[in-house]
Formats: sequence, structure tokens, C-alpha cells
Amino acid sequence: MRRVAGTLGPRSSAHEPPQITARVRYDLFFGITTEIILFSDQRTLRILDANDAAARAYGYTRAELRQITVADLRLPGTEAIIARNVIDAAAAQGTMFETIHVRKDGTTFPVEVLARTAWVEGDRIIISSIRDVSQRHRAAHHAQRLTEVWRLATDPAIDEESRLFAMLRAGAAGIAAGVRFVARLSHVEGGDVVIDAVTPEPRAATESGGGPAGTRFPLEGSVEARVLRARRSIGWSDESSSAIGVPVDVAEERYVLAFVSDAPEAERFTAEDEAFVEILGGFFASRLSQSRLRRQLVHQIGHDRLTALPNRAGLRQAVHHAIDEQHACTLVVIDLDAFDAVNEALGHLVADAVLVEVGAAFAAELQPGELVARLEGDSFGLLLPGNDRATTQRRVDAWHAIFERPFGLGDRDGRMSARVTAGFGIATSPDDGTTFEKILTNATSALRAAKARGPGRVAYFDREIERLVSHRRVLRAELRDAIERDEFELFYQPTVSLATMRVTGAEALLRWNHPVRGLLAPDEFIPFAQQEGSIRDIDRWVAQRTIGQIGAFADAGAGFRCYFNLSARTIDDGEFVTWLGEVLALHPQASDKLGVEITENAAMLDFERTQDALLELRRLGLRIAIDDFGTGYSSLAYLKRFPIDVMKIDRSFVEGIGRDANDRALVETLLAIAAQFGCATVAEGVETAEQIEWLRGTTCTAAQGYFIARPMRLAAFVASLQGGGFDVRLT
Ligand code: C2E
Ligand code: CA
Ligand code: CA
Repeated sequence: MRRVAGTLGPRSSAHEPPQITARVRYDLFFGITTEIILFSDQRTLRILDANDAAARAYGYTRAELRQITVADLRLPGTEAIIARNVIDAAAAQGTMFETIHVRKDGTTFPVEVLARTAWVEGDRIIISSIRDVSQRHRAAHHAQRLTEVWRLATDPAIDEESRLFAMLRAGAAGIAAGVRFVARLSHVEGGDVVIDAVTPEPRAATESGGGPAGTRFPLEGSVEARVLRARRSIGWSDESSSAIGVPVDVAEERYVLAFVSDAPEAERFTAEDEAFVEILGGFFASRLSQSRLRRQLVHQIGHDRLTALPNRAGLRQAVHHAIDEQHACTLVVIDLDAFDAVNEALGHLVADAVLVEVGAAFAAELQPGELVARLEGDSFGLLLPGNDRATTQRRVDAWHAIFERPFGLGDRDGRMSARVTAGFGIATSPDDGTTFEKILTNATSALRAAKARGPGRVAYFDREIERLVSHRRVLRAELRDAIERDEFELFYQPTVSLATMRVTGAEALLRWNHPVRGLLAPDEFIPFAQQEGSIRDIDRWVAQRTIGQIGAFADAGAGFRCYFNLSARTIDDGEFVTWLGEVLALHPQASDKLGVEITENAAMLDFERTQDALLELRRLGLRIAIDDFGTGYSSLAYLKRFPIDVMKIDRSFVEGIGRDANDRALVETLLAIAAQFGCATVAEGVETAEQIEWLRGTTCTAAQGYFIARPMRLAAFVASLQGGGFDVRLT
């Protein structure tokens, strides 16, 4: 440089322009250009001279460079390519090509080489002008990776959980080809780094203070700490590791996106790398704030994903709004009956489809000022404006009517449907509470009271309910002890042949001799026991007792069967049939004197299981009656698939026989159906002579009801049998 300064320094006379001699050109160009310049012998490829840029790039001193050949700067095994390049360089315009050069320490970098030959004092030399293009390469690589990361960030087909992970992995691949980075997204919590998502690369993860998502480690000395201190993207490398990271700000939350490698060969990071992670950080921030936004929407505006109805939070907000405005309001909790059984029997997908349909039906019923939300599972909350009882009742009736039609099961052709019932529990504000939680608790208590009365019931919260809530607790305990204390008893009710009016069967009906409340009918405790699960023990007790008492009928000279009721829950429990088989093995004479009555309801939707159980009962010698026929759903499917011997026509149809032509037509239809399937028929709840007369004119086989006889104790039943049967006075 001294020479250059000497030649170019200010001169005393400014008249003559400076002479740019060849020597000057060479020195200037050779010394200060950032391009690598090499002069080499075309024959031996020995480097004759190299500039400072070359020394910097390759890690050799200029003197060292003069000891080696151009081939030493290339990858081993590339001699043929080098020879080709040399030949090309001899062309008039020289040659330009891209290749990889090797540094003194063995690391490599991509170069673009411009080479041509020249004659110098009889020797042919090669002049090469070489540019390090790793940055250009990296930029192209970065652009490619960014495109990929952006695709991963926005592709709707990728689920949220794998999305961040995929973005991390694609991002890490963009940092430096050949060096494996652990990419992690973390946030700082109370002086600790908490990893939110990480690419799996165990070696580097452990050595650089990482681990699986959820891992915590001290902030001090971490990559994260450095990034947070720098408040921008930074990269660094030292002997043991290299890392590059960027803070990612999402609203008030701050994450750090870091790429960490413990590979010793890790390169220093360039400005391009930092720019790259800066952009990546932006991608992550936008992605995170989007999913955050969605989370916020779900939480604050409060919508349920499945039904698209508002959720509990949404309802809460609306109720509190009404309270704040001092508007009276009514909260109705609507809970589907036996829905856990639907879930269990048909699977979650079908159950979800039903919930979606129910939600849609609810949304369609809404009137201005009303709001319906999905609280959880199969329970919904309906907010009605005002607390006037008559108005509320009118609306509740309308909402209740929604359940009169069947709901689709979400099958492809939309052919399958199920009838669902729901209990309604109602509480008002301000009377029953002035906070959402209080009103909801009371509405839920009312709901429980409604459920205890049976499916599809409605109950308002009141003193009575408050009492019931505590009653329920007591009942649960009492019911547990009832079997042990022998408080249950079976009553029997006969069925008579409509042709002969003689007794052709009996039904065992459970009663509870409650120590305080006296004789209780099953409606007062069976629905409760069904909810609680104690029904399985109760049904076993009933079966056992029926088998034990059945001999008394035979002793009285009767040869009919005695039917006992089985809850769907008990049938679904596969052990019952096995258990019954063992009991019957001890009472072989009972088998052909027994029958079971099952109700068609949601819990029996597990066709296979119910079918198996019923076939097994048949094999044991029992007859199967389907109870309350016509009130459930899929009735026809039941008849088709299940081995049904007797169809019991529900009391509600029989009731209308005397006054309603529609009911008569319906009963006739049911009878025709039964005939098709070869079932005997029993009309339930016959209370009048008129009903029985009409039934005698149909194909109906038998009748049961107060008109013939009420359920009675075994002794009374046997006495009647011995006295020649039941006195049915026909007109
Ligand atoms: P269900 O199986 O339909 O039994 C017939 C019900 O109708 C009996 O009520 C019977 O007393 C009543 N009933 C009979 N004839 C007439 C009539 O002419 N008019 C009116 N209004 N009612 C009549 P109960 O004994 O109160 O039983 C109610 C329900 O409780 C039964 O309905 C059955 O579903 C259930 N249940 C009874 N015993 C058992 C049992 O041992 N196990 C199970 N799981 N459920 C039982
Ligand atoms: Ca029955
Ligand atoms: Ca019945």
C-alpha cells in the first residue's frame, strides 16, 4: 500500500492528471478488491500469487498459498473437472463456473470462478477471479425455506400441534445446510425458560440446555437470555456451540425462537442468517397470534366448536349482562337423557352428530332475546328474558317440543335417526340467584329433580327442589342399604287372554318398603337407581326373587310365565346373562316359566350386544317381551333384529282407545306389525270395559291393567288364582 500511496499521493503540481499505469492497476486491484485473485501455472496449477482476499478466504497466508496448487483448493476427486475448467479457461473469453472451494481447515464454501489464461514471458498462466457465493447461495436457500415455512404456517390441512413443529424443522433446515440445529420455541416464566415446541435432536437438545416440549431450565446463560438481552435477532458461535435466535412478540407475551447447534463445524452466522430468523420470527408471531386469537374468541366470545353454539363463558357473559342491566331472566338447563349410554353404545362420532343436530334444532327455535349455549357434554343452557312463569312455560313447552322429532345419527345417507329426550331444569333471576354460578347451580338442582321423575321431565327450582337436593343424598345411602335390609318386595300383576279372559301370565313389579316413607312405587327410585348404577344389583335381586317365588304359581295350578323387568343398563352389562344362567342351573324348573321385559330406549342402541344377550336369554329358556312398545325409537329395527316374543303396547295408546280414532288406528297398526313378526301382543294399562271390549275385537292376544287387577302381593295373587282367577266384569 505504501507504493500505492506514493504513486497516488497529492502532487505539487495539479496540472498533469495522474498516470494509471498497468502496475498501478495491478496493485490497486490486487490489493484492495474483495474478490479473490489467484495467479497459477497452467501446467502445474501451482499458485504463483494470491491476494489478501484469498488469504482471508482460504485461511492460508499468501506465502502458504504460493506453496500449494489450485487443485488443493478443490474437493478431492475433482481432477477431471479441474482439467475441463483449465481447457475452458484457454478460450478467448475465458470461462465462468461455480464450484466448491476448500479452506485450510477443511471447511468448504461455494464459489463463482471467472478464469482465463494469459502468456507471461513464454509461460501460460491462469488468472482466476473468485467470488464467495455462499451468501448468495444461502439467500436462495433461505428464500426457499421461507416459502416452505410460510406454507407450513398457513396450510389449513396441517393441525395446530404439528404445525409449530413442522415450521421449526423447516426453519432449522434453512439456517445452515449440513449443520444440524435444534430449533425450539420457548417462553420465559419466572426466571426459567419453558420450551413450548422443539425439533427432536436429542444430542444437541441435551447439551445445549434443551429437552422435550415442557422442559424448564434456568434462563441464566441460555440462548434465550442472550436473545432477550439483545432484543433482536442475533447469532454467535464459539468453540463449543453456535446459536441464532430472535424474540417473537405476541401481544404481551414474548417467546424466543432459537436454533442451537453443538456441532463444532458450525459456521459463523451471516447477516443473511439473522435476517432469515428475523423473518421466521415474524412468521411464528403471526401464526401464534392467529391461534391465540382463535383461543381468545373461543374463550371470550365463547363459542363451542362442535355445535357452533355459544359456550358456558358466552352464556355466563349474557346472564351477567342481564343482571348488570337489572333485567330479570330465566335460565333453563337442558340435559339429554341417557346420553352417556348413546355415547357408549354408538361411539363418540355418532353421539357428536346427534349433539350437532340438537344444537341446530335449538338454534332454529331461538326467538329474539333468547340465547342457547352448550354447557358441556350433552347439557345446554337456555337464557330466556324475563321471569314471568306463564311466558317461561310457553317457551319451555316450545323447546320441549323439539324433542318430539328424531335426530339424525350422522350416517352418510342420513337414514338413521334416534329419538332423544331431555330433562329441563329452570331457575330465575333475581329470585333464585343474582350470579351466573348461583342461578346455574339452582337450575341444575331443578334438572336433577326433573331427571329423578323420569326422562323428558321439566322442573322449576323451588323450596321443594332445595329439599330434594338433600333428599337425593339420603336416598342414595338408603338405596344402598335396601337390599341388605330386605326392604324390597315384588308385587305381581296378571295378564289375561283376551280370547278366554283367563290368566296367561304375570309381571313382577318392584316395591320398596321404605322404613319411613312406606311402600314406594318404582317410579320413585328406579330412575334414580338407573342413574346411580345400583339398578344392576336391584335387577339381580328382582330376578332372583322372581325365580324363588315362581314355584308358588305352579303350586296354585297355574302354568303361565312370570315376566320381570330388566333395565337396559343391566342387559348391556354382559355379566348379567352369565349370572342368570348360573342361578337357573340351580333352579332348572324355573327356566320355561320366566320372561324378561325390556324397554326400547337409547341405552340398547348397541344392537350387537343387546342381540347377543337376548339370544342367550332365549337359549336359557326365557321369553322376551318388549315393553312400552311405540314410545321409544327404532321400534321396527328392534323387532327385526331382536328375538322378540311379546310386544307390550304402551298404556298411552291404550288409554285413547275409547275416545280417539287415531289411537285406535295406531293400536291396530301396532298389532299388524306384531303379527308380521309373529309376536304375541299385550295391551298395557287397560282400565275400562270399553277398552277391553274393543281390544277383544282385534288380534291383540292379552291385556294387563287395573281393570283386570292391580299389582298385588304374592299371597293375594296366589289366593286369587286358587279362587278361580280374577274377576273381570265385562259388560
Ligand atoms: P312397566 O314395566 O310398564 O309396568 C307397568 C306399570 O304400569 C306398573 O307400574 C303398573 O303398576 C302400572 N299399571 C298396570 N296397570 C295399570 C293401569 O291399568 N293403569 C295405570 N295407570 N297403571 C297401570 P309400577 O309398578 O309403578 O312400575 C312402573 C315402572 O317401573 C314399570 O313400568 C317398570 O318400567 C319399572 N319397574 C317396575 N319393577 C321393576 C323392576 O323390578 N326392575 C326394573 N328395572 N324396573 C321396574
Ligand atoms: Ca314392564
Ligand atoms: Ca310397560
